Amino acid sequence: MRQKIIAGNWKMNLTLAEAVKLAADIKSDEASYKHQVILCPAFPYLTSLQNELKGSKIKLGAQNCADRENGAFTGEVSAPMLASMSLPYVIIGHSERRIYYHESHETLKEKMNLALRYGLLPIFCCGETKDIRIDEKQGVYVNKQLEESLFHLSDDDIAKVVIAYEPVWAIGTGLNATPQQAQDMHHFIREKVSARYGIGIAERIIILYGGSVKPDNAAELFSQSDVDGGLVGGASLKADDFKKIILSI
Ligand code: PEP
Repeated sequence: MRQKIIAGNWKMNLTLAEAVKLAADIKSDEASYKHQVILCPAFPYLTSLQNELKGSKIKLGAQNCADRENGAFTGEVSAPMLASMSLPYVIIGHSERRIYYHESHETLKEKMNLALRYGLLPIFCCGETKDIRIDEKQGVYVNKQLEESLFHLSDDDIAKVVIAYEPVWAIGTGLNATPQQAQDMHHFIREKVSARYGIGIAERIIILYGGSVKPDNAAELFSQSDVDGGLVGGASLKADDFKKIILSI
């Protein structure tokens, strides 16, 4: 049985007071959560949320880390910095980073290496754009993302990675993949992991779905056999919606 995860990606939203309140609201029902919940706030809020979540089962993640270890890179936050805060998770390769900040396969490979070297657990995002889906090339595209930034990892390291399949056309658009589309791509990704690392690792690797997950579509998406939970953007900013999503799995 793979662990199920519901992760909230808060992106560049909320004031500090709003972020702490949202975490407190989500925490208030944690006794009923059966699966791992992860919150990914903006960098400056991590310490306050660590304090708010002290003693809680809810874990924290950063939304990004630098592709360099340290030095003169103004504005960047490195993997060793996050590790020094005892942060467990970090999102790497979100489509918004790939698109708006032009993060290449090579850059993401370096981020993966650094995150793992410093003991962070990466949530590695992959997924195709709308044009690629229309051309039915999503398999080729996602496979390349895996090959270029992930499949150089050792068996030990890949086992620590959570993969998030997030079709770009479904992120923040209100258009979710159908449960069957999600299942097909998750199965495809698991098969690729199996071909590279063997069935044992493939059966254990956690693959989340992301893209307009809402309380009314979460249960069906998460009931697919290869979907191990979700990475949730917009709906994770509303405590009630996020709690319904957590409880739908
Ligand atoms: C995301 O940002 O990872 C995401 C899936 O966003 P949304 O749920 O808003 O589509």
